[in-house]
Amino acid sequence: MDGTLYIVATPIGNLEDITLRALRVLREEVAVIACEDTRQTQKLLEHFQIRKPLVSYHEHNEAARSSELVERLVNGDSVALVSDAGTPLLSDPGYRLVSAAVDRGVKVVPLPGPSAALAALSASGLPTNEFRFMGFASQKAGARRKQFSSLLSEQATVILYESPHRILETLADMAEIFGDRPVVVARELTKIHEEFLRGTAAEIYAQLAQRGSVKGEFTVLIGKSETANTSIDPLTEIERLQREEHLDRMAAIKAVAKALDLPKRELYRLALEQDNSNPDKHRG
Ligand code: SAM
Repeated sequence: MDGTLYIVATPIGNLEDITLRALRVLREEVAVIACEDTRQTQKLLEHFQIRKPLVSYHEHNEAARSSELVERLVNGDSVALVSDAGTPLLSDPGYRLVSAAVDRGVKVVPLPGPSAALAALSASGLPTNEFRFMGFASQKAGARRKQFSSLLSEQATVILYESPHRILETLADMAEIFGDRPVVVARELTKIHEEFLRGTAAEIYAQLAQRGSVKGEFTVLIGKSETANTSIDPLTEIERLQREEHLDRMAAIKAVAKALDLPKRELYRLALEQDNSNPDKHRG
């Protein structure tokens, strides 16, 4: 009989967040634990007095390891996948293994538990009915600004991960692009210095910048605009004005920026990008 692949969430700071089921499965059900960093997982296992063989599974050996692990699974061994912290596959390795296991008809069982994205969202105070998880924002300023610009008409709460080295840069970009939209920064979730910073991106930037050094782990959430009419896609509206009101493109951009209360500069940039990717369509 095939083994089972267990996807096991582990604490993101506070070890009390491990579930009873995770402990039982890691202790009793599996032959091996696949983990990102064996030293990190070893520490967790030692804390809970669990002895189990570990095998490294990270972004650089995912392909080869996935095949090996799936072979073990079809030969009857059960395997647990954990990441350094939180839920595997969410901005962490695991996708290749899970899809390979699914392809071979192996049973995959999730063991739900901590994840920084959902922990941050649940206490943020921002709408939770619709949310969009972006993983890490791009490390390159240009690409990151483009990512943010594409979210100008997003209706869902956006969740992203950011490193302490780039958090200020990212907040500065967000301030420019999102203006006064509500932002929440969740820092050090479940740890002693856990905190939630709420305000506009510019306000949170100022708060963090005055601390001198910025440390810890950060999850950032962006709420939908409270003033702008974001149910209208700005680029579609620009095209409509050109088509129906016979405005030239520049005038249409200006009118939409004003009507939707969006930053004019970003809307120009967004429209320009669209023109560059499809030069014939938007002439006028
Ligand atoms: N898979 C993990 C999860 O489900 O939470 C996320 C892994 S990702 C490689 C790590 C990023 O998650 C960090 O850089 C940070 O942005 C965010 N993160 C992890 N732990 C956190 C914490 N305790 N507080 C705030 N953000 C955290």
